[in-house]
Amino acid sequence: MARYTGPSCKLCRREGVKLYLKGERCTSDKCAFNRRKKTEGKSEVVAAPGQHGAARKKLTEYGMQLREKQKAKRYYGVLEKQFKSYYTKADNQEGIAGENLLRLLERRLDNVVFRMGLAASHKEARQLVLHGHFTLNGHKANIPSILVKVGDVVAVKDTESTKIKGLVEAMSDKVAPKWLEVDTNAGVAKVIAMPERDDIDFAINEQLIIELYSK
Ligand code: SF4
Repeated sequence: MARYTGPSCKLCRREGVKLYLKGERCTSDKCAFNRRKKTEGKSEVVAAPGQHGAARKKLTEYGMQLREKQKAKRYYGVLEKQFKSYYTKADNQEGIAGENLLRLLERRLDNVVFRMGLAASHKEARQLVLHGHFTLNGHKANIPSILVKVGDVVAVKDTESTKIKGLVEAMSDKVAPKWLEVDTNAGVAKVIAMPERDDIDFAINEQLIIELYSK
């Protein structure tokens, strides 16, 4: 299963936003994005990686669309081929393609684990799923890209393991989106609705992604 293995903080600097790829570190003083932040006029900017990173040019329309797509891909930890297949699926569904696309990304099992508050980043959530720590409707589920649907129940499998116990205990502090009904004592989440656009708090302009792919 292919995945990005390069430096995570570079991706945040490239996109000019915090993508929260490193869990706890992202909210600490150690965050590379915060440390490199400079004030330019009224806004705060971070130099992109590379020799000419500081010389950020004004983006073309295509550039803006591309950056928005890369931002979404990197935030959800999805590679190009799979991301394109989500777009195709979203475009074939009824409704607004951009919202359909975000809904598909939100419904991934690794994202559900992240939203439940069991992982500090999408990357960590993916690892937990791959290591077989969850069940979906009572069956072992170790594929991060499985899409959940209304009525599905995601549960931690091994509540006796010290690591999982610690994660479940830490869950109570986190706020789950309203499309998930989370039992923080048992480490269980039931999907009670489809995710809506308002449920996604990450700043993304999905319309730009759709414009990019529909060229
Ligand atoms: Fe991005 Fe997190 Fe690295 Fe900060 S610590 S730059 S938010 S990945």
